Amino acid sequence: MQFHDSMISLVGNTPLVRLNSVTKGIKATVLAKVEYFNPGGSVKDRIALRMIEAAEESGALKPGGTIVEPTSGNTGVGLAIVAQQKGYKCIFVCPDKVSTDKINVLRAYGAEVVVCPTAVDPEHPDSYYNVSDRLVRETPGAWKPDQYSNPNNPLSHYHSTGPELWEQTEGRITHFVAGVGTGGTISGTGRYLKDASDGKVQVIGADPEGSVYSGGSGRPYLVEGVGEDFWPTAYDRTVADEIVAVSDKDSFQMTRRLAKEEGLLVGGSCGMAVVAALRVAERLDENGVVVVLLPDSGRGYLSKIFNDEWMADYGFLEDEGPSARVADVL
Ligand code: PMP
Repeated sequence: MQFHDSMISLVGNTPLVRLNSVTKGIKATVLAKVEYFNPGGSVKDRIALRMIEAAEESGALKPGGTIVEPTSGNTGVGLAIVAQQKGYKCIFVCPDKVSTDKINVLRAYGAEVVVCPTAVDPEHPDSYYNVSDRLVRETPGAWKPDQYSNPNNPLSHYHSTGPELWEQTEGRITHFVAGVGTGGTISGTGRYLKDASDGKVQVIGADPEGSVYSGGSGRPYLVEGVGEDFWPTAYDRTVADEIVAVSDKDSFQMTRRLAKEEGLLVGGSCGMAVVAALRVAERLDENGVVVVLLPDSGRGYLSKIFNDEWMADYGFLEDEGPSARVADVL
């Protein structure tokens, strides 16, 4: 009989798919690592699994314990699935700007979600930060993974994403491109690929215009999950050879093209990473093998990126080629 013991064993081993349409005129091969094939629908399942298993080993997380993390997104889903399968409780803390759909996903997996007001200072007792700290102090058996500082975030990629890419490309990968949020993906995967190739693989970070990684001050941008206004310790500043800044408009237009032309319904940080990957690939000849990591699915962004009105309100449809209009296909 062929079956998996549980959804946990489906984490990782995601496919690589060649991009064929958005790469017109480019000689290099551009391959997408499609992370929405993970059971929780994103790359974050990898870090959830490793952070939890490491905490079990160190004794920081004990049987029947509770995982407390300020997250509303992909990391929460990954933690919720692994926790549920291993018998832990989860409490997630979210700001009230998070959509009810996202909160309902976490609750569907059995997690408790505490919603905090956005319109208060970080020092206020009801702030997102203070509520999660208080829950950790007051909940017996609580453990906070803290993806921004947990070394098992980048390590999960050093031990899974990196080796997978090296094997899938038979060591022929020349460039690796990933968006930078906590920095875990680029740091762990990039370090593994550098080690495996004696430093030959070039590592490129993609960053929203305005974020600190590309020299900004943290100015707001709309792409979700990437960019920061501080430097997380999960990010290894020595691994990227180059950081490419990409605008919201370019990111979202590319995201829509990936759905319409490549059959890839993915999130906005994926469009951003592909824009950066194409800028790199344009400079290469036919020996170039560029791998770009696509962190999540587009299902969570239907009312934004894939909604013409929302796009038009921000002026993101201007200069968009007719091939990218969602309305054309409806
Ligand atoms: N894209 C999305 C949608 C994400 O949720 C994240 C994680 N914050 C990233 C990209 C960036 O990954 P990392 O945190 O490993 O840098």
